[in-house]
Amino acid sequence: ERLNIVHMAEEIKSRLEPVYKRNIHLRTLDSEIFVNADPDSLDQLLKIFMDNAYKYSSEDITIDIEKKDEAVMVSITDEGIGIPEEDLDKIFDRFYRVDKARARKTGGSGLGLSIADELAKVNGITLGVKSRVGSGTTFTLEFDGVKEWKDENR
Ligand code: ATP
Repeated sequence: ERLNIVHMAEEIKSRLEPVYKRNIHLRTLDSEIFVNADPDSLDQLLKIFMDNAYKYSSEDITIDIEKKDEAVMVSITDEGIGIPEEDLDKIFDRFYRVDKARARKTGGSGLGLSIADELAKVNGITLGVKSRVGSGTTFTLEFDGVKEWKDENR
C-alpha cells in the first residue's frame, strides 16, 4: 500500500508527545513522501523505535524523513545512553538486552527490536543503527522508492 510517510510521522508525533511529555521534532523538506508498506506494520515498527528512544533517553526525539535518489530514509534519533559497539549486531536478536542493570531499570523483554526486524523484512524495509555510548542512537529505515503517481500518469 502506498502511504504518505510524512503524514504518518505527524500523526505519531501528535499521538506520542502527550504520552511521553516530551518534544518530538519532525524534520522534512516535503509534506508528501510516499513509501510502499502495510500501514499497521509501519505504525508498529515506528512505535518500537519511538518507545526505545523514550525509554533509553530523557531528551527530545527527532524524526527525519528524506528522499535519497529513489529511496526514502526515515530516521529516529535520541540523545540517550547509546549502545556499545560490541552489542550493535545483537540488539535485533530475540530477548537480547544490553545489560542487566539497564534491564532492571527500564523493564522490557528484549523482544521489541526482533519484532521490528521481522516487520521490516516483510515490508521490504532495510534497518540500520548508529550509536555512541553517552551521546545517543539513530535507527534508520530505508524504503525503496515509489514513483510519483502524478508523474507516472501524465
Ligand atoms: P522491549 O521488548 O520491551 O522493547 P527492550 O527495550 O529491552 O524491551 P528491544 O526493544 O528489543 O528490547 O531492545 C533491545 C536492547 O537494545 C535494549 O534492551 C537496549 O539495551 C537496547 N536499545 C534499543 N534501543 C535503544 C536506544 N534507542 N538507546 C539505547 N539502547 C537501546
